[in-house]
Amino acid sequence: MMRTKLVAGNWKMNKTLTEAMEFAVSLQEHRDELPDGVEVMIAPPSLYLVPMEMVKDPVYELAAQNCSQHSFGAFTGEISAAMLSEMRVRYAIIGHSERRQYFHEGDTLLARKVDACLLHGIKPVFCVGENLEERQEKRHFITVLHQLEHGLYHLSPAQMADVVLAYEPVWAIGTGVTASSDQAQEMHAFVRQSLASHVGEATANRVRILYGGSVNASNSADLFACPDVDGALVGGASLKVHEFIRIIRSAAGL
Ligand code: PEP
Repeated sequence: MMRTKLVAGNWKMNKTLTEAMEFAVSLQEHRDELPDGVEVMIAPPSLYLVPMEMVKDPVYELAAQNCSQHSFGAFTGEISAAMLSEMRVRYAIIGHSERRQYFHEGDTLLARKVDACLLHGIKPVFCVGENLEERQEKRHFITVLHQLEHGLYHLSPAQMADVVLAYEPVWAIGTGVTASSDQAQEMHAFVRQSLASHVGEATANRVRILYGGSVNASNSADLFACPDVDGALVGGASLKVHEFIRIIRSAAGL
């Protein structure tokens, strides 16, 4: 099964508007270096979604880093999938470990956010992953299974086909410690098998599973060589345009 690789940058709360636009322009200027057949996604701070969608013929898809479970209403500070869907925003990252940890987003809430995205035609990039203690106690499979069951397994196969998954072991995020390609492949295969038992093999084989956690231009090729690693969710290394381009190229074996 050929799945189009997806290289996604999560900028988190970084960059000024000037820096964001410089990055966007630079990526456009280097478009000849970007391989065909690799999808590029950027999740900037939501303020920058509008200027970044104005770029002519962009080489990237845009994503929100979060969205509300509600469509409209008295929810000060929130942005909804309904609002995102009117712009050129294709994806929203849901359940990033920073949202789970610092903003106390739990499974029930995240399932509602997934529903809100799908209702408004936004594809959720749903993040799962164990923390260090869970890994050390060999509970990583159970943890990820629990996150899948509570966040996604109420979806129909047709809905699941619009979801992107990201396996992001919390101990590897922003730490410089990446999972080995064996560890990544083992978990990705486990996730795909679990998906298959819920929505069938055909759908499971269509769903892209990204790896995230200290991905950079030096380790991405090994990760992308794993049969069940369909791309990456990149934090720190997505802030530097030349490094990001090298990661994108490595997804095409360049
Ligand atoms: C992330 O935040 O999704 C992430 C993987 O960050 P980093 O690449 O910096 O570890």
